[in-house]
Amino acid sequence: MYEKINSNPDIYKIYVPLPRNPLKNLNCYVIKTDDRNLMIDTGFNQPECLAALRQGIRDLEMDMNKTDIFITHIHSDHCGIITDIVAPGTRVFMGRVDYVGCIEFLVGDLWHQSDLQYLKEGFTEEQMEYLESKNPAIAYSNHVPFDAIELEDGDKIKVGDWECTAIFTPGHTPGHMCLYMEKEKIMFLGDHVLYDITPNITMWTYVDDSLGDYIRSLKRIRTYDIKLALPAHRDNNLDFYERVEALINHHNARLMDSYKIIKAHNGYTAYDIAGYMKWDIVCDSWEDFPLIQKWFAVGEALAHLHYLIKEGYVESKPDENGINHYYLVKEAEGNFF
Ligand SMILES: [Zn+2]
Repeated sequence: MYEKINSNPDIYKIYVPLPRNPLKNLNCYVIKTDDRNLMIDTGFNQPECLAALRQGIRDLEMDMNKTDIFITHIHSDHCGIITDIVAPGTRVFMGRVDYVGCIEFLVGDLWHQSDLQYLKEGFTEEQMEYLESKNPAIAYSNHVPFDAIELEDGDKIKVGDWECTAIFTPGHTPGHMCLYMEKEKIMFLGDHVLYDITPNITMWTYVDDSLGDYIRSLKRIRTYDIKLALPAHRDNNLDFYERVEALINHHNARLMDSYKIIKAHNGYTAYDIAGYMKWDIVCDSWEDFPLIQKWFAVGEALAHLHYLIKEGYVESKPDENGINHYYLVKEAEGNFF
């Protein structure tokens, strides 16, 4: 299923379903020209995603030997299926930081490091073992490394007569990139700004302060002149600049919530703090959360805790078992950004 969303340049959206996932779908955008095409993001390594992509490629009569792929970031719903759709003539472009991270997660020990971190934040060994088999980030990723041309901030990609610029927007992931068509004022957002869902901001073992990075990237993206903003999931049914403002306010309020929880429960673990935060999930209590949702929640809580640590409001201290506990250091006045 596809839809034409712009003329001159011709841009199409292939609707890629993400089965049993709250994101519902991935928007795979295609800039189509008489010369070469550019496809932006792909899908999970799942048969439903592959079938939808192949159908879209057929419907749009795309020759994959004349099609390049730009991947906005490391997440499996964006790059999980690359190896199944590339042709010998396809070039894959991806920001350097997330490309290197992607390969390290596949063949290095980044998952192991991440698991060790979650153990230090209050998860049990049994919980982590269970998660290893259930995590969609692992199950639906590429199972073999892929080649890519690594991009830096400001690098250009030619698509026929059109030109796109890679914009480094870390936060949602350590190396997230948007893609900007300056003359046409079109921004491919990836997951940097989503409209009816909030992009997940989480802890990464190789990033100090992913929420701080994210807020800086939000402040940066709103300086661009954008007429058509294209998110990687769901619709773009709000004003772009108002949506950016709302996301900044959302995290400011989230920081205040986390801060108040620590103030009321000095010395709690991130696992406990996440249990007191508000989540958009239908569950009676924190105990009833599915384990994978707890994993996402603790990751998000940690991104907020790391910001509070970086700004000097909170400190973490390990106990005799190496489990981190969070303590209040400084009073907050209300606005964190
Ligand atoms: Zn993502």
